[in-house]
Amino acid sequence: MDELDSFDDAALGRWIRTFAGLVAANKDVLTELDSAIGDADHGANMDRGMRAVVAALDGTEPAGAAALLKQVGMTLVSTVGGASGPLYGTFFLRMATAAGEVDSLDGPAFAKALHAGLEGVVARGKAEAGDKTMFDALAPAVEALDRSMAAGAPLAEALRAATAAAENGRDATIPMLARKGRASYLGERSVGHQDPGATSTALLVAAAATALDKG
Ligand code: ADP
Ligand code: MG
Repeated sequence: MDELDSFDDAALGRWIRTFAGLVAANKDVLTELDSAIGDADHGANMDRGMRAVVAALDGTEPAGAAALLKQVGMTLVSTVGGASGPLYGTFFLRMATAAGEVDSLDGPAFAKALHAGLEGVVARGKAEAGDKTMFDALAPAVEALDRSMAAGAPLAEALRAATAAAENGRDATIPMLARKGRASYLGERSVGHQDPGATSTALLVAAAATALDKG
């Protein structure tokens, strides 16, 4: 497979558009998951937000990693209500700041930006491991990316390891008792259901892995 070892603007654009496509394809699944332990809007929220993001990119696609990621974050903050809008928005805005004014993000730069995004999610939502949130998919993904790159893997391979970790993290939310967000209102009744935000986050990481395919 022919793969890039860094995210240039085109690859970042592919990441975001692929994520938008996965969210659209999984909209009903995300909503069903949120109907079990929330208010049945996670699919609609994320789909509305990512459609607006793609529309904005289709308008004028900003040049440079920071500008592109910032536009994604700002669009999500302004179009997605509920918990996930500010959380995903902050994730991309912090990534943008960490990316800085560069034309492309190599492995270490992408990892640094992802760490910053994760820290942004934590700063905003105060979630910890095991709280049954998007953190439980995102944090293991970032760890797996670090581990894989430290072992010498190229970025695309490290992102596949991160995807597997995010999917495991997503599945691990099923037996958890929710301690943050709407699902926490259910207490024990939140046990036995997969977290919707962890599910969309696994799609976000999977999209990053495929965005490095040259096609
Ligand atoms: P809302 O809960 O406002 O309806 P969504 O349904 O769009 O928003 O998103 C719900 C998801 O947001 C949850 O499944 C969870 O993963 C995530 N979430 C909620 N609160 C937090 C938090 N404090 N920190 C991290 N993630 C959170
Ligand atoms: Mg909801």
